[in-house]
Amino acid sequence: MNAKYTLEEVDIRIRSAFGLQGIFGDAYPFSEEFRIILAKAISKLPKQIVDWTTENVLFFSSRDDRFVFTLNIDEWKHKRGFIFLCENLKEWSEGGQVLAIAHEIAHLKLDHRKRGSSEEQEATKLAKQWLKQRKE
Ligand SMILES: [Zn+2]
Repeated sequence: MNAKYTLEEVDIRIRSAFGLQGIFGDAYPFSEEFRIILAKAISKLPKQIVDWTTENVLFFSSRDDRFVFTLNIDEWKHKRGFIFLCENLKEWSEGGQVLAIAHEIAHLKLDHRKRGSSEEQEATKLAKQWLKQRKE
């Protein structure tokens, strides 16, 4: 059994978790470019972490075709962790993007409530563990 989803399987999960059928109705809360970056990064994670992420994390970025995004009060009660994708991330190498996104997901998975150097190390360690796991 494969321990990781293919890029295509992850993209389908991202589309259904955050896209048309998802919580935002008619739009993704991130740009097309970031959808691709996210799919590439998340496909490197173990299957159970991909599933956890699509259920428990909300990703946001700016979009070229939108000026504003609104979350109404019901949408805000999603109780998901929140990861904002900054434009600067686009300038990083693919490996850097993957590690940065995995690191942020690890903070949420570890339920970090404060940020200190030990939390940073713990998140990086867990992210690297996920990325090291083999495809099968
Ligand atoms: Zn961190």
